[in-house]
Amino acid sequence: MEHEEYRLRQAIIEQCLWMNAQGLNQGSSGNISARSQDKLIITPTAMAYEAMRPEMLAAIALDETAAWQGPYKPSSEWRFHYDLMRARPDIGAIVHTHSTYTTSLAMTRRSIPAVHYMIALFGGNDVRCAEYATYGTQALSDHILVAMQDRKACLLANHGMLVAAETLPKAMWLASELETLAQQYYHALQLGGAVILTDEQMAEVHAKLANYGLSQALTNPESASTKSATTSK
Ligand SMILES: [Zn+2]
Repeated sequence: MEHEEYRLRQAIIEQCLWMNAQGLNQGSSGNISARSQDKLIITPTAMAYEAMRPEMLAAIALDETAAWQGPYKPSSEWRFHYDLMRARPDIGAIVHTHSTYTTSLAMTRRSIPAVHYMIALFGGNDVRCAEYATYGTQALSDHILVAMQDRKACLLANHGMLVAAETLPKAMWLASELETLAQQYYHALQLGGAVILTDEQMAEVHAKLANYGLSQALTNPESASTKSATTSK
C-alpha cells in the first residue's frame, strides 16, 4: 500500500475518533470515506473505531464494478458514498453521522432554510432533507443525489445527515458546523420559529464568500485532528 493511501486511512480513523469525542456521532453508526485516486477508502461495517487499524478499512473501485477489497466488508452505507463520488468529481471526502440535532430535524423531514448566513457554506440557501428510504439501499442513494444537487450537505429523513467536501478535514469541519446550525435552528423553533433570510440577503453572502475567500478564512481544518488528509489527484 502506498504511503499516501496509508496516511489517508490513518486520517479517516483519526476523524472517526474525533467525531465521537465531539459528540457528533454515537458508537459506530456513522461512516467516513475519502477518495484515493481511482477508488474510495471507507470504514468497515459495524466495527468500534477504537479497534480500527488502517489495513482494516475497505477500498471500493470507483468504476462500474464497485469491486471492494479488504479484510472486512465496507460500511453498509457504502452505496451513497460510491454514487456521490462517481457523480461529483469535486467531492474528496464524505462524513455521514446520526448527530443528535441534524437527526432530530431529519425525523420531522424538515430542511434547514436560510436561518443563518452560514447556510451558504453548504452551497445554496438551504440544506435539503433527502426523502426516506431504507438504509443501505439504492433508493436511499438516489434520494441523496437529488438532495445533494449543488450542495455539500443534506439531511436524511428519519436517519441522519451527510456532508461532502473537497478534503476530509473540510468535510469534518462542515459536519460540525451543520450540527451547530441544526442545534440553533432547533432552539429557534422552540421560540416560535426563525426569520428566514431573503434570496437577496443570501445573494450578498454568496458574493462575499466568492470575493473574499471567506469560506477559506472560516474554514479552519487545522483545528481538526488531522491536517494532511487531502485527496490525491
Ligand atoms: Zn446512517
